[in-house]
Amino acid sequence: MRVVVTGGAGFVGSHLCDRLLELGDAVVCLDSLLTGKMANIAHLVDHPHFDFRCEDITAAIDVPGPVDAVLHFASPASPVDYQRFPLETLKVGALGTLNALEAAGRKGARFILASTSEVYGDPQVHPQPEEYWGNVNPIGPRSMYDEAKRYAEALVSAYRVAQDLDTAIVRIFNTYGPRMRPDDGRAIPTFVTQALTGQALTVTGDGTQTRSVCYVDDLVEGVIRVLAGTMAGPLNIGNPHEMSILDLARLVIEVCGVDLPITFTPRPGDDPLIRRPDITRARAELGWAPVVDIRDGLGRTIDWFRAELSEQRAEAAH
Ligand code: NAD
Ligand code: UDP
Repeated sequence: MRVVVTGGAGFVGSHLCDRLLELGDAVVCLDSLLTGKMANIAHLVDHPHFDFRCEDITAAIDVPGPVDAVLHFASPASPVDYQRFPLETLKVGALGTLNALEAAGRKGARFILASTSEVYGDPQVHPQPEEYWGNVNPIGPRSMYDEAKRYAEALVSAYRVAQDLDTAIVRIFNTYGPRMRPDDGRAIPTFVTQALTGQALTVTGDGTQTRSVCYVDDLVEGVIRVLAGTMAGPLNIGNPHEMSILDLARLVIEVCGVDLPITFTPRPGDDPLIRRPDITRARAELGWAPVVDIRDGLGRTIDWFRAELSEQRAEAAH
């Protein structure tokens, strides 16, 4: 297959590019490097089946030649990033998705939208099944991301009906792993960076809010199965292992093998209190479930961050 991956130089997108190339597919990676970086794909640029194009997909998508699938992963994803780039986030969710759908339509390609558990907002149904419509503040501090993704889902649904496009929507829950930016502001990269540099871990609120975190390899496996199938979704892809953020911070300290304090900072506005995917549908339709245990996934992530941080220190010393 020849697969277009938008956002392919980002955290998740770069792992997806790796996996597609391993499977023998050709990859066209479209990325503006807004929140991604070349370092994520540096090992791929000389691969004969990898084609990187530094492009803003909100302007246009024009990929010559046949395309079998468009995986639309471009979008700032961490709260720090999307609040720093609110207009870019709304535009890539709206115009970027529109352009990606048009490109898929022109090529007769299967289209997959990387949606998010944020479409459920601060959920009042727990765990969250795909049938739940969500509880989102349309003008709140997370709205540029949540509503961009909700609009993107609506666009995909409309193109599927109006133009008979072969589409799928994947609702991704909190995913972590190597290549997250140490400064992206999300809990795991922040805690790991703090633990490896001898700083107190900053937990927001009293830390009782929960998340259910999924190792990136598990997520990629789920997406690959969606790509190979014909299901439309939406499909939740995430790890149902729910934990409090305070317990997550404690676990990072333990797996890093350090002894550091935890400090408490104000909880941001509209921060969801609970989150856990109901993955009944993914189990039934994809035969998929996450297999990487949190300690194992954190261990691999911490190893990568250790190397990354020491490289950054060496560069800074030059
Ligand atoms: P990321 O910021 O690392 O990657 C996003 C990539 O999109 C970056 O490389 C960025 O440069 C690129 N991009 C942004 N706007 C663009 C534009 N206009 N044109 C071209 N490229 C553009 O984020 P991530 O964590 O890898 O997330 C990837 C996708 O998965 C996003 O769509 C995100 O909403 C979704 N998602 C991720 C998570 C998660 O936990 N990581 C959870 C839910 C959904
Ligand atoms: N969080 C935290 N300390 C940090 C960064 C985040 O306690 O340094 C909290 C954040 O307020 C939220 C949870 O961890 O309650 C998960 O945040 P993240 O940004 O990773 O994901 P999201 O909120 O988008 O699910």
